[in-house]
Amino acid sequence: MNPNGTSAVRLAVDRTACAGHGLCYGGWPDVLDCDDQGDPVVLRDPLGTEAEVESARSAALACPERALTVESV
Ligand code: SF4
Repeated sequence: MNPNGTSAVRLAVDRTACAGHGLCYGGWPDVLDCDDQGDPVVLRDPLGTEAEVESARSAALACPERALTVESV
């Protein structure tokens, strides 16, 4: 729970499910980047703004492998 009384939200990557084709970090670079192997890296944990949460949700919906999960912490 943050000072605003709402839960923090994080974006999780399931590396075993990820195929590494880059759709997520190519489409939503405000919340995701890639490492040297081409695997996605979440830029901020927990996510910092409502806009980042929306980007994370969009990226999770777009991931064809269902490797991204938006979760409350
Ligand atoms: S879109 Fe999904 S499968 Fe593709 S790199 Fe991102 S997390 Fe991995």
